[in-house]
Amino acid sequence: MPEHLGAAVDRALARPAPQQPQWPDPEAVRGVRAVLEGVAPVVTAEEVDRLRAHLASVAGGTAFLLQGGDCAETFAETTERSIAGTVDTLHRMASTLTSMAGLPVVRVGRLAGQYAKPRSSPTDALGLPAYRGDIVNGREATAGARAPDPRRMLRAYVNSASAMAVIRALHATGTVVPGGADTGFFTSHEALLLDYERAMLRVVDGHERGEPKPYDLSAHFLWIGERTRRPDGAHLAFAELLANPIGVKIGPTTTPEQAVEYVERLDPYDEPGRLTLISRMGSGEVRRVLPPIVEKVAASGHAVVWQCDPMHGNTVQTRTGYKTRHFDQVLDEVRGFVEVHRALGTHPGGLHVELTGADVTECLGGPQHLSTTDLPHRYTTACDPRLNRTQALELASLTAEILRPR
Ligand code: PEP
Ligand code: MN
Repeated sequence: MPEHLGAAVDRALARPAPQQPQWPDPEAVRGVRAVLEGVAPVVTAEEVDRLRAHLASVAGGTAFLLQGGDCAETFAETTERSIAGTVDTLHRMASTLTSMAGLPVVRVGRLAGQYAKPRSSPTDALGLPAYRGDIVNGREATAGARAPDPRRMLRAYVNSASAMAVIRALHATGTVVPGGADTGFFTSHEALLLDYERAMLRVVDGHERGEPKPYDLSAHFLWIGERTRRPDGAHLAFAELLANPIGVKIGPTTTPEQAVEYVERLDPYDEPGRLTLISRMGSGEVRRVLPPIVEKVAASGHAVVWQCDPMHGNTVQTRTGYKTRHFDQVLDEVRGFVEVHRALGTHPGGLHVELTGADVTECLGGPQHLSTTDLPHRYTTACDPRLNRTQALELASLTAEILRPR
């Protein structure tokens, strides 16, 4: 990487960086970073550029963005079966949306790299360091497993690259979307663990107009989470440097002024679709909090992608201790999101969901009418509750119904 870009990355990452592990051995982290700086990327800059063009269409109102996958991927569950389940579910949801709502659908998996998790507390109920995702430490509740281990970043790279190889093979052989090989499939994850993301930066000649920008080639699309979007923080400053399209989660405390600051900083060259604002307000808040944000951003003249994450504002804990979400609230947030955009004349451009192709029992309701007594049967998520395949397909068809031009 040219020296001035390296220095810009160092400056960005010297800012306050929430949600980073306390690595016990900083020298070992530098060693791992040096290895990752020399590996082949998980995705290519050409692919990232193709996604940028697709997202420009979404921002312009002529396409829809569907993004989904596990809350947290795990190394053990990065199997061909689980990958195919997620990818196939997304393609089926996309077909439903296309045929009913009449818009081409850009398909982006939350997979092949979704290994780092922000936590509400640095320690768990037992006083152990919190599980921060397989890229940092182990889920098992022992001091040994929970010690952050930088070598896990190498395993995360290997798993991401092999997951990407499986995704490419599934498409090349027509195992998913028969006859749909021309349908691009892209990957994404939260750009949370800065030691990993910085090591996956690559400068590619001739791919960026004007001054060259590094691509983060760990995935096509990266987003900044609700807990790391502070304007003076390292995550925003890092994202500003990237050529990739970027998402920012905006929760119910987001002000219109903050939203405009994200837009101005992350879309300085007025590129339609460069920034996706992922609203995750909760079904009770979206109709109140989102309108002034949309109005102020629209008035700024920047063409962003407006995407609805109807999962993260609707998480509840059952009396028996399960984190869950009710299908009806998820659907209601989608409905509120679309109502807001319809009222303001903006494009309700996308959906971001946590889902799996497996028949898990993690979210309540849906066509199977899952109740709290069903949750223990197949509750296997490593982090947040996911829609199962049936619930995900139902959400797609009800969302298409809501979006259908009338
Ligand atoms: C997530 O997407 O898993 C997540 C942690 O979301 P948020 O940052 O919106 O809370
Ligand atoms: Mn989650």
